[in-house]
Amino acid sequence: MKIAVVGTGYVGLVTGTCFAETGNHVTCVDIDEKKVEKLKNQIMPIYEPGLDVLFERNIKQGRLDFTTNLKEGIKDAKIIFLALPTPPGEDGSADLKYILKVASDLGPILSEYTVIVDKSTVPVGTADKVHAQIAKNAKVPFDVVSNPEFLREGVAVDDFMKPDRVVIGTSSDKARKVMDQLYAPFVRQGNPVIFMDEKSAELTKYAANSFLATKITFMNEIANMCELLGADVDMVRKGIGTDTRIGKRFLFAGIGYGGSCFPKDVQALAKSAQEVKYDFKLLTSVMDVNQEQKTKLIHRAKAFYNGSLKGKTFGIWGLAFKPYTDDIREAPALENIKELLALGAKVKVYDPEAMENVKELFGNTIEFCSDEYAAVDGADALFIMTEWPVFRTPEFDKLQSLLRSKVIFDGRNLYDTQAMEDLGFTYFSIGRKDVD
Ligand code: NAD
Repeated sequence: MKIAVVGTGYVGLVTGTCFAETGNHVTCVDIDEKKVEKLKNQIMPIYEPGLDVLFERNIKQGRLDFTTNLKEGIKDAKIIFLALPTPPGEDGSADLKYILKVASDLGPILSEYTVIVDKSTVPVGTADKVHAQIAKNAKVPFDVVSNPEFLREGVAVDDFMKPDRVVIGTSSDKARKVMDQLYAPFVRQGNPVIFMDEKSAELTKYAANSFLATKITFMNEIANMCELLGADVDMVRKGIGTDTRIGKRFLFAGIGYGGSCFPKDVQALAKSAQEVKYDFKLLTSVMDVNQEQKTKLIHRAKAFYNGSLKGKTFGIWGLAFKPYTDDIREAPALENIKELLALGAKVKVYDPEAMENVKELFGNTIEFCSDEYAAVDGADALFIMTEWPVFRTPEFDKLQSLLRSKVIFDGRNLYDTQAMEDLGFTYFSIGRKDVD
């Protein structure tokens, strides 16, 4: 089947590559000329484990190509995926300008029946809007389907190739058959393709992300309680996670959720609620708690240094919003760096994959280091912002000799508190006892 994917970011590139992997011919379209130039030269513009192998194979075998020209890209395509950004607009609602622009461009250039698929995360009613926009100038029949994406950056290829479920919102039998055929190779183990109406599919994605953000936030509040009551959040996590109704995942306390999805999706769902005059109190609290949680360790540091961080130097391990990605959108590390700089501190950072993206934001206001040890060389303390595996078992002797004093503010609870006490570190983490 010939497929076009419009928008070649984290979602579009994974989607396009994985559909090519199952034998389709895929053309990815993007307006970013530099990105398309890179892709044409087989240079991967993002870091996503495992994607490079599939990417190179499918280009080599002639099933995956790239263009900046929409008309050329959608030629002969039976299905067109829209994997475009839906960033928060000024009022917090999802900004549909990228999607509606492409929809209006598509109208006059469709040449035969086509299924147009909203892959982006979009508010309820967007499929109707996209349909109306295309219909203004379309001369051929078409259907607009909602097919939200649930992949996680860092394990996106696995998630896409073996999804827990595929959600497809459509009221058209014809579109349903096309989508069923397309996804069949991905659900051979029996995971469901769940068909529903467009609106329910659109809401499913927001409900999923908001639920997960709420689960994390709930655990962060329990962690805050643990600190006040002298309990240990790791024990509580194990205690509740073994209940299958709760489950083990998404229960790790830390410095809050970030990334390109949770913050904007929770905000967009709250805004949607407001628009229908529903007071979604829980989501408002989730957003407030998460915001406070992000810079929690700075308050600890201020208290530890008698109110002032001026003139101190801090090493930071981890910049990406989570491990195995170079994505820094809404990463807690960024807010912490800004805050530390505003308080007159110096900052030295290291991240295995996200340094280039952070350079674009902070330039030479912070020091970018070649490895995790260089980032703590001469620093007064270490802050841990992302749980990259490489930070889990550092050489503590080396760390100790490089740091000016043995102080760690750990936003991801990487180390055992007793072990830190035995090593003689001053160690602050989330929801566990301070080692002072
Ligand atoms: P992204 O910013 O990485 O990529 C979007 C791409 O669209 C960019 O390359 C941009 O240049 C391109 N673009 C913008 N306007 C265009 C146009 N007119 N024509 C062609 N290309 C255009 O975004 P993303 O992270 O891939 O997210 C895309 C959508 O998928 C969002 O709605 C997001 O919420 C959703 N989503 C993201 C993830 C994730 O983990 N990143 C997971 C599930 C769903």
